Amino acid sequence: MAADSSSQNSKILLTGIRASGDIHLGNYLGAMRQALQLQTKYQSYLFIANFHGLTTTPKAEELRKHTRSIAAAWLAAGVDTKKTVLWKQSDVPEVLELAQVLTCLTSVGLLERAHSYKDALAKEKIIKAGILFYPVLMAADILLYNSDFVPVGKDQAQHLEMTRDMATYFNETYGTTFTLPEALILEDVATIPGTDGRKMSKSYNNGIDLFASEAELKKQIMGIKTDSKGLDDPKVAEECVVYQIFKLIAGKSESDEMKRKLEAGGYGYGDAKKALLAKFLEDFGAMRKEYDRWMKDTAALDQELARGAVQAREKATKMIKRVREVVGL
Ligand code: AMP
Repeated sequence: MAADSSSQNSKILLTGIRASGDIHLGNYLGAMRQALQLQTKYQSYLFIANFHGLTTTPKAEELRKHTRSIAAAWLAAGVDTKKTVLWKQSDVPEVLELAQVLTCLTSVGLLERAHSYKDALAKEKIIKAGILFYPVLMAADILLYNSDFVPVGKDQAQHLEMTRDMATYFNETYGTTFTLPEALILEDVATIPGTDGRKMSKSYNNGIDLFASEAELKKQIMGIKTDSKGLDDPKVAEECVVYQIFKLIAGKSESDEMKRKLEAGGYGYGDAKKALLAKFLEDFGAMRKEYDRWMKDTAALDQELARGAVQAREKATKMIKRVREVVGL
């Protein structure tokens, strides 16, 4: 659902990105772009979910690198830290305290219904408890800041419902404390397809990474799976992942032109991929430069995060104080 256009400046928007890999187009179009567009409208809280990043057990250096990389991505994409709060999750440990409280109100049955848990069950022999409890920590992330709106991709819709369930149990048990947050999911970018046609995901290795080197990007885009139609064959544009992605970043006239060419025949998938790569570099060129600048100046980056952490913690501390009071700690 999209946020309505009436003035709601006192409302709070919050979203996070897991520090478990590089930012891909799905993250940007599904969650980041929407959050950035709304930062002038709502008091915005954007964070790098590095506790969540631990679920994949990365090496310490890797986790630190992903954390900085996502912070640089937010800054390069246009976070205005004069107004918006940007911090890394682990700088506000109160989130773990709230997660513990919520854990005691949440049934295992609810958590076992999470798609993320079911996916892990299908893939892994041993499921870490962190995967099962992921929706609780996510609920704590959201409720700690009394968030009204949470811009996310469709894959997070169920977790948002669970957050509302947890907030409701809490409010019914201890008295109204939390706002029930609303997911902001934009239909046309709810699930961005990856290079293999499945949902673009860090864990499927099918991403088009916003800040990859040009050579790597070329490899990713030229590697998009297509059917076996030859250069001269007419193609079905809507079934072609290259076109599906092109349409999301190019304007209407350019995407209509690609559609017409694909459907007419004499225009190959390779041509479409080259057009996508060129469009990608044109659209994200300035952002990619800014990202490189932030990644080179880690002192400035860390300073931004430290400043954000103070602001985030101030708000979190107030909520935790209230939670402690109402639950009797
Ligand atoms: P994650 O990388 O799992 O932390 O996801 C960060 C944000 O990106 C969440 O709001 C996700 O819903 C969103 N997201 C991730 N992959 C996609 C995708 N393929 N399409 C749309 N949104 C996505």
